[in-house]
Amino acid sequence: MNNKNILYQHGTLALLVPGLLEGTITMGELFSHGDTGIGTGQGLDGELIMLDGVPYQIDSTGTVNLVKDDFTLPFATTHSASFNEFSDFNNLDMSSFEQTIIEKSNSQNTFFSVITKGEFSKMKTRAVAKSNKPYPTLVQTAKEQSIFESDRVSGTLLTYYSPEVFHGVAVGGCHSHFLADDHSIGGHVLDFQLEHGKSEIQVFDTLEQHLPINNSEYMNHNFDNDSIGSAIDEAEK
Ligand SMILES: [Zn+2]
Repeated sequence: MNNKNILYQHGTLALLVPGLLEGTITMGELFSHGDTGIGTGQGLDGELIMLDGVPYQIDSTGTVNLVKDDFTLPFATTHSASFNEFSDFNNLDMSSFEQTIIEKSNSQNTFFSVITKGEFSKMKTRAVAKSNKPYPTLVQTAKEQSIFESDRVSGTLLTYYSPEVFHGVAVGGCHSHFLADDHSIGGHVLDFQLEHGKSEIQVFDTLEQHLPINNSEYMNHNFDNDSIGSAIDEAEK
């Protein structure tokens, strides 16, 4: 069994920047490291959210699909859910929500996850369209994204926080994916207005960083000229 305080990450956000988008772990394998998480598929095939051991993909048409065990991913973050009581929140936009959870968590120098179930008076998400080999860079692929908006939706917001010093390994700061209860909207979260919600928190003391050493393109790539930090800011924030 996994230690409950381990955050397991496969691949890095940085490897997506030059377009190293080959799927290098299967969903089945990922589930041996956790039951909750976020990620993307090979070729940036949509946005993934794993909740209670069930993996969902929001594709670029906005459809929510169940993900099979042999689906492969270049980048994913997962953990075994053991959330603790945190807080009820009312009337917060995305930036105040992020600021509030970081302050309230008292954990800004470590990794943590917050899961929020609630009603949103606004939700804006995106899902990237799958690309094929030769894979484009992250900034090019991010331009092929579809944007989805909802005025009133209830659902689950799954947020991962990484200290800024890990920007490149993950998104420094908060990174959230969303799934509506009725599956009408989901994906990588760009903006929201939380009307009311109940949040739980899980703080991690260990980052287990797994790298795709059997992928020769990753092993042979030279990251020196990829401007990782600014490319991630452009594509992910
Ligand atoms: Zn995302």
